[in-house]
Amino acid sequence: MAEIGRAIVKMDVDKLIDLLNKALADEWLAYYQYWIGAKVVKGPMKDAVISELELHATEELTHAELLAVRIVQLGGTPVLSPDEWTKITNCGYDTPENPHVKEILNQNIKGEQCAIRTYSDLLDITREADPVTYNIVLKIITDEVEHEEDLAALKEDLEMMLEKNN
Ligand code: FE
Ligand code: FE
Ligand code: MG
Repeated sequence: MAEIGRAIVKMDVDKLIDLLNKALADEWLAYYQYWIGAKVVKGPMKDAVISELELHATEELTHAELLAVRIVQLGGTPVLSPDEWTKITNCGYDTPENPHVKEILNQNIKGEQCAIRTYSDLLDITREADPVTYNIVLKIITDEVEHEEDLAALKEDLEMMLEKNN
């Protein structure tokens, strides 16, 4: 554990570790939602959507890595079992029961919007109290904003294409 690294944090470190673990659970669920979505998705623009879903999956995994490393630095234990993910998640998991591209995009857009809200709260909490965590969260939220935009752009392309065909 980074002893002094932990001591300089100007907030309840155990509370911070809990919040980071909740975000870690979100990231694993987001990873799987993207990963499995890329396998089952059907419909127009499928190839473009699959590429984006696969890329986002790898980026969510990178976020999980950043959070787990920070939790360990703070003297915490990253969530050890997948059983915990759905119990502590902020953003939940949307099962892609309907494989249509539009539905998959909508589910993932909703997930990104929740992630952005979660990380925005974490930025507020850590801004003064823990610049190291703040910096990590800033990197993650920058990706999440890009994810939302990428999916929204795909959805817009899809809608324009469908309109044109009518
Ligand atoms: Fe993420
Ligand atoms: Fe994301
Ligand atoms: Mg992207």
